[in-house]
Amino acid sequence: MVARKPVTVLVREKIVCPYCGNQEEFYEVAENALMVVHYLQNEDGTFVPLDESMEAGAVKFFCGRCQADLSHLRDRL
Ligand SMILES: [Zn+2]
Repeated sequence: MVARKPVTVLVREKIVCPYCGNQEEFYEVAENALMVVHYLQNEDGTFVPLDESMEAGAVKFFCGRCQADLSHLRDRL
């Protein structure tokens, strides 16, 4: 007799727009996003990109239907 493991299904609480009830479409806007690319300059003056990094500023989260600012809900993601 092999004991069967209980299957745990994690159900996350869905984000629902409190204004229009939308729970499917959302979008994010990163404000003041800063793109940093590091270059290495060669002897002949050409550049070689070493790596890129994104310094995201404040990220705002919006409802895709009524465009309500839901940034406070996004903290739960
Ligand atoms: Zn909405």
